[in-house]
Amino acid sequence: MTTPYIQRTRIIAAILITVMLILAGCSPGKPTGANPADPPAVIEQNHTIENDHSRIEDKPAVTISRLELIPSELTLSPNVPGQDQRFANVTVTAHKTDGTEEDITRIEQLVFTSGDSEIAVVDSEGRVSITETAKTGDHTVIRVEYEGRTAECAVIVKYSLEETVTTNAEGVSLVTNLADHAVVVNKQRSLPADYVPNDLIQPDVPFSFAGKSEKKLMREQAARALEQLFKKAEADGIQLYAVSGYRSYSTQKIIFDYNVQTQGEEEARRFSAHPGQSEHQTGLAMDISSPSIHFALEEAFGDTEEGRWLADHAPDFGFIIRYPEGKEAITGYAYEPWHIRYVGLRIARELTEKQMTLEQYFESGFPVLKQENR
Ligand SMILES: [Zn+2]
Repeated sequence: MTTPYIQRTRIIAAILITVMLILAGCSPGKPTGANPADPPAVIEQNHTIENDHSRIEDKPAVTISRLELIPSELTLSPNVPGQDQRFANVTVTAHKTDGTEEDITRIEQLVFTSGDSEIAVVDSEGRVSITETAKTGDHTVIRVEYEGRTAECAVIVKYSLEETVTTNAEGVSLVTNLADHAVVVNKQRSLPADYVPNDLIQPDVPFSFAGKSEKKLMREQAARALEQLFKKAEADGIQLYAVSGYRSYSTQKIIFDYNVQTQGEEEARRFSAHPGQSEHQTGLAMDISSPSIHFALEEAFGDTEEGRWLADHAPDFGFIIRYPEGKEAITGYAYEPWHIRYVGLRIARELTEKQMTLEQYFESGFPVLKQENR
């Protein structure tokens, strides 16, 4: 009976020692004190070269996780005094899976493309230029592609106000970019008497009056946008009516002369445009009203449900409230909540978001001109 007891004790002791050794991080088969992670020196030497190979193979290869074009937005304009902004260079940064980044602009395999080569072009080195025919308000993107990744940079064309005006023999400042959807016509910038837009059409929207009239016309792109705006209004249960769109130079002259005769020139000029200085001659403006205010064009329209709806939604269709409240000193006109002006979606949204007038839009981004102006 004694022997089995001693044997059992030994077995239990051996198990206990084994368990303790395991818990201590050692395997009972190896000498205690030697770290199994440290292979014998000889073996280590033999493996050194192989390990270098396997290290490269084992680690996940560093790849490009994202491409970035810098800057992400470019505003280009020719002939700004003191700086030619017709050209600009973009750089391409590769963001890698290991967290690093690298300027890869000079890599030959990069493929640059322009979203619209009639507005901007780009060469193989990332030099972006706007074309001779690019107009204010035009915009496109420059795209770069490399190893299946792409990045984009928005290109916006913006001519300064000084570039789009000329003085005629009579000393009148005439705008030169007549057909731009972002043309600025105001008391300092006139349209020539003979300017008639060549794409006037009648938008399919309800008018406040019946019959044929030049007042029902708008330039095509603006007319189509107006139709979409009115469609959205109808869907929202808002009754809008178009009251007055295109107005020829001669019509404006009749209106202005009448106002001067009845109210005096100073008062007439406050609310009525000098012929050539009415936005309605651009074919991009429309006066809007509603039955709730008996189709009147007056400030109170801004406080109606329809007026508020119009101010909120016009920018989503490329229109701005051209003469906002409190901006008379800049626009030259009192608040006109009924007068909407087509400028295109991108500019309309930017102006609304920044609470800027069209005049201010062309001032911003031109530091040289800004200094001269103030
Ligand atoms: Zn108007």
